[in-house]
Amino acid sequence: MAIVPFDDRDGVIWYDGKTVPWRDAKVHVLSHGLHYASCVFEGERVYERRIFRHKEHIARLFRSAEILGFAVPYGQAELEGVCEDVVKAHNIVNGYVRPFAWRGSEMMAVSAQATKIHVAVAAWEWPSYFTPEARMRGLRLATAPYARPSPATAPVHAKAAGLYMICTLSKHAVEARGYDDALMLDYRGRIAESTGANIFLVQNGELHAPEADCFLNGITRQTVMELARRRGIKVVERAIMPEELAKTDEVFLTGTAAEVTPVQSIDDYKFTVGAVTRGLAEDYDREVRAHAKASAA
Ligand code: PMP
Repeated sequence: MAIVPFDDRDGVIWYDGKTVPWRDAKVHVLSHGLHYASCVFEGERVYERRIFRHKEHIARLFRSAEILGFAVPYGQAELEGVCEDVVKAHNIVNGYVRPFAWRGSEMMAVSAQATKIHVAVAAWEWPSYFTPEARMRGLRLATAPYARPSPATAPVHAKAAGLYMICTLSKHAVEARGYDDALMLDYRGRIAESTGANIFLVQNGELHAPEADCFLNGITRQTVMELARRRGIKVVERAIMPEELAKTDEVFLTGTAAEVTPVQSIDDYKFTVGAVTRGLAEDYDREVRAHAKASAA
């Protein structure tokens, strides 16, 4: 399949308060956000024309900016409306929304106090890549070469561009060995998450999740925990060391893009795509569609 680059598409992008043609939404090469990673972003999913968990994502964007020491120069409700308008402008039925904010070009050094804060929103059609059957075969993971940093080393709760450096490097390292994604441990050697999604383990019918104390407590993660509780499944958040994978029955990832995706193996540990994963994947599917119906009503 030919790649359509993201800077060469039809449509519009909302950029600093204006709607501009997609190909004209450019930044100068000397931008603080590019050189020093002073950039925060969100990834949202559109189901049946509605943005799922929209308020939570926009609230997280504002929090991420605040953690990085800058304020998004718009109101939260205003930016929510902008995202909805961009989705409408493209007539997106099932897709993805990317709101983001970054520091501009007024200063090109570590200190960036006087930089202008820029904001943009893009959206594109993005139906599910895999058929449900293909996705349910499960991903093959290998341990990442990089660990998630401690909260004393990086602003771990921000969805910030800089934190993705180790994710891209880790993902590339395992892809080169034929794996789908990398399992990142944290600075203490505990299981943390994958390079762009949270992780859950199923042990004896219970759902175990690493405590989200040094990585994003994903919006999908929180939704899936709620769905599990509704099913009467016990949910436990705790420190999990990789050796525990030997006594783990099922593993799956959660994220806005990943939704609920089973994992069939991590290094030499093998798992089944079992009843808990299947049940929660179905529940999640129902949840996003029910949300779309409810907000259309
Ligand atoms: N961790 C990382 C590193 C991510 O990029 C994402 C995707 N935003 C997640 C976890 C899951 O977060 P969410 O469920 O809010 O999409």
